[in-house]
Amino acid sequence: MKNVSKIALLGSTGSIGRQSLEIIRLHPEQFSVSVLTANSNVELLIEQAIEFKPETVIISEAKYYPHVKDSLAKTGIQVLGGEDALNNISEVADFDTALVALVGFSGLRPTINALNNQKKIALANKETLVVAGKIIKDLAKKNQVPILPIDSEHSAIFQCLVGEDIDTVEKLILTASGGPFRNYSADELLSITPEQALKHPNWSMGAKITIDSATLMNKGLEVIEAHWLFDIDSSKIEVIVHPQSIIHSIVQFIDGSQKAQLGLPDMRVPIQYALAYPKRIPNQLNRYNYLKPDTLTFELPNKNLFPCLNLAYEALAMGGNAPCILNAANEIAVSRFLNHQIYFTQIPDYIEKALKTMPFISAPSLADLFYTDLETRQLLTYTTAS
Ligand code: NAD
Ligand code: MG
Repeated sequence: MKNVSKIALLGSTGSIGRQSLEIIRLHPEQFSVSVLTANSNVELLIEQAIEFKPETVIISEAKYYPHVKDSLAKTGIQVLGGEDALNNISEVADFDTALVALVGFSGLRPTINALNNQKKIALANKETLVVAGKIIKDLAKKNQVPILPIDSEHSAIFQCLVGEDIDTVEKLILTASGGPFRNYSADELLSITPEQALKHPNWSMGAKITIDSATLMNKGLEVIEAHWLFDIDSSKIEVIVHPQSIIHSIVQFIDGSQKAQLGLPDMRVPIQYALAYPKRIPNQLNRYNYLKPDTLTFELPNKNLFPCLNLAYEALAMGGNAPCILNAANEIAVSRFLNHQIYFTQIPDYIEKALKTMPFISAPSLADLFYTDLETRQLLTYTTAS
């Protein structure tokens, strides 16, 4: 098994996690799974462990540990339970690349641990860069490890930038599907249910990112992610709605030339690119057919109806712990909306309130960010739906 890259797949039972395993399954000569982790989907985790035979399995919710341990007793797989095992991933397991497919703030500690131990990062978890972009980038630089983007827009930009000098970039243009409510009126937005919002037109994804796509917060988080990944000022990052999701993003250069990356909306393509980088390896996934009568269209995002996008630009301009506040408030608001506790249109209100109320820290340490995350969640715990 020479040159097989050992992958720690953090969040293996989620949408990105499952699609990553599909790619790994197709290329056993290139990739092996050394770690699988999940929060609570035990049966799928056990099934994945039996198929992929990792060295270590981590179940974050400690109450499920005995069941996972018993189920994998005869396999020789090390089974660990609890958040600490995940947060100290490099101490408990051996791997080359951490593929971070965790959702929300939960991705931050394991990513930092992997960076501190010189592991390559394949990053789907955009919230980690939103919360602590500067710290993450500094750690990657210090430890000389790459952060390879999996988010489709950032993978597109990353691919367009191969062989280019970042100083020759005039603008990054992130494409957005616009979500399922692109053409709704302000009145129609008031009565949206979680069930409606969970139906994304082009992508099948986890619940949190699907709601983020519907509010356009996903694109806001991606603007912040692009700022840190490519070291580009937010004034040079634009968003355009492209409902067909065929062009995954565009780079405009100082000579007027524009490069775009295209393909069917299929996350397995950026996942494979990040895992195989700097090589390209083959697959048999469906290709985009230019002869199909599918018109590619573009429009400006409606920032009045979907204020989350501007809130993200504002938090990025404020800097410091503001994006961390934005992220925590959004996580709380999305989870409340999914639990039918608040309306869809109240999600941006929560974020605005948190940005106005939480103390601002201009150069936060990691400890400041953990504190900010916790405090923002607590602040909003006492906020009731009006
Ligand atoms: P998901 O909800 O489907 O899966 C999340 C995974 O993380 C699961 O395996 C779950 O067990 C685990 N997890 C959740 N909370 C946890 C916690 N507190 N502690 C430990 N483990 C926990 O999410 P997803 O759609 O796969 O998205 C994962 C990340 O990738 C997100 O940051 C998302 O924004 C990003 N992303 C997803 C897509 C997509 O198509 N799904 C596209 C681009 C970026
Ligand atoms: Mg994306």
